[in-house]
Amino acid sequence: MQRNLRFRLYPSKAQEMGMLEVLDSCRKLYNYFLRKWKESDKVPPKYDLQAQIPYLVRQWPELENSHSKTRQYVLWQLYSNLRGLRGLKAKGRKVGRLRFKKYTRMKSFVYNQTGFAIIDNRLRLSKIGPIPIKLHRKIKGSIKQVHIKREQSGRWFAIFSVETKAEKLGTTGKAIGLDLNIENYLTDSNGEWIEHPHNLLKLEEKLAREQRNLAKKEKGSKNRLKQRIKTARVYERITDGRRDFLHKLSRYYINNYDIIGVEDLAVKEMMESSYNAQNTADSSWSTFIQMLSYKAEGAGRTLAKVDPKNTTQNCSNPECGKYVYKPIWVREHRCPHCGLVMDRDPNAAINILNKALKEVGSVRPEPTPAEMKPLLQDFGSAASLVNETGSSFQKP
Ligand SMILES: [Zn+2]
Repeated sequence: MQRNLRFRLYPSKAQEMGMLEVLDSCRKLYNYFLRKWKESDKVPPKYDLQAQIPYLVRQWPELENSHSKTRQYVLWQLYSNLRGLRGLKAKGRKVGRLRFKKYTRMKSFVYNQTGFAIIDNRLRLSKIGPIPIKLHRKIKGSIKQVHIKREQSGRWFAIFSVETKAEKLGTTGKAIGLDLNIENYLTDSNGEWIEHPHNLLKLEEKLAREQRNLAKKEKGSKNRLKQRIKTARVYERITDGRRDFLHKLSRYYINNYDIIGVEDLAVKEMMESSYNAQNTADSSWSTFIQMLSYKAEGAGRTLAKVDPKNTTQNCSNPECGKYVYKPIWVREHRCPHCGLVMDRDPNAAINILNKALKEVGSVRPEPTPAEMKPLLQDFGSAASLVNETGSSFQKP
């Protein structure tokens, strides 16, 4: 199975200049190929364009600063963007056209198979040199590809695509349903809940303040540029902290349960008119489910994505299961048919668990407690999530 691992790079000034030049070469190539597309009636075959690269390098000697595979990958990226757009269109979404990339829009370049090596805590990149890298965890398996990425704050990262062998975990005999909701971050079918990490909420407030400051600065001024970087740093601390939180949370459920049920977010999105995919909570839910999904695959666990229909409304008592309507502000499930009274979210989580077990064809384990209690694991604790330098790393 394929995994992505992210590490911080600490390039020298000269190396950073080199990498910025590669980004610019990639941007030139990208825009050149896109122009070729726009000039022709239909999208030309990829290999026709690929064959032009050596001529282009002769024409623009500055392209020599990038590795040959890096240049080829730009073309691959363009075709992949087109496939992405077509996919969205097929789903009935409104999509625009591919646009030429401005200087700041080219954020990463790629080494595929060759042109890189890790030697003595340095990532050796062809055409750039040995860049100090913080290897905060072991890389098990073979590296297929490296994305070199520049964040808006100016920090650089290497993201390795690694082919690893799955390490199956022993069975636990336990299953769980997870209800992702606005009230907490999630509530599970044991009645335990995880709150949105307090630190991240605080940082989000800080981000809003920095964004207001940015809006006040004069366009094109030095102060505005400074403020933009400051704002980007806060934003990245939030992203780092959230990634770390989601890794720990998904790891916890994968280690402790054989079967994990969640709602199918794609179906939920279609069903609920109020569902807003731009919402931060929502987008982090889909990241969370992706993490659960690949970790489940590696560990030999089952992740069941169930139909979200009536998971909130139905009574979770297996002998009852009747529809009990409750608007969003009613936080309690009070069943007039069987008398079950419990909080709204664990009721939903148990319904999700039951659907998951049905889908997997497994029997229902021991009855679930109706009482809510906070989960003991310290997911939201301050120091573990976001440190002052803003460089918290993934610890799955
Ligand atoms: Zn009932």
